[in-house]
Amino acid sequence: MNRAVFLDRDGTMIEDVGYLDRLERLKLFPYTIDAVRLFTRAGFKVVVVTSQAGVANGLVSEDFLAEVHDVIRQKVAAAGGWVDGFYYCPHLPYASVEKYRTDCDCRKPKPGMILNAARELSLDVHASFVVGDRWRDIEMGQAAGARGVLVETGYGKSEASRRPEHVTPVPVFANLIEATTWILKHNSGS
Ligand SMILES: [Mg+2]
Ligand SMILES: [Zn+2]
Repeated sequence: MNRAVFLDRDGTMIEDVGYLDRLERLKLFPYTIDAVRLFTRAGFKVVVVTSQAGVANGLVSEDFLAEVHDVIRQKVAAAGGWVDGFYYCPHLPYASVEKYRTDCDCRKPKPGMILNAARELSLDVHASFVVGDRWRDIEMGQAAGARGVLVETGYGKSEASRRPEHVTPVPVFANLIEATTWILKHNSGS
């Protein structure tokens, strides 16, 4: 069984630009590639878990989403890291595109994406971490049995002081690379 780090995409790995519908709008944070490489070298599987309401509402196609994820994977790979999986939720209960209109099990804070990844990639969720900029990311992780870390990029700054009572407190860091440093230090030798 592999340990994993589940990374939220928008606001955690890349700038949250609302609906990312053109490749020119894809902006990785300057430390994201380093963070993934550090996790890869430390033996973690890296899995991206992202809500894509833009797909549900017909603003982004699944083909384009795959293109975006290929670009991220290639940039990471060129630097010696690896993204083991991209999992996304294209659904919404009131999606404008009918085929995505469902009350699914993969919409954050439900743990479906993590559970699917765990099954497909043989991951030990209880030895894994979720890093995200919203409490729904953390809640998704905790629902699956993973530990969470909140980052203050994206929505994180405003989220940090507004933890819902049912979410267990987690460490908060300025950004993904600081979260990465903490996770790896916290887990050395385990
Ligand atoms: Mg986010
Ligand atoms: Zn879904």
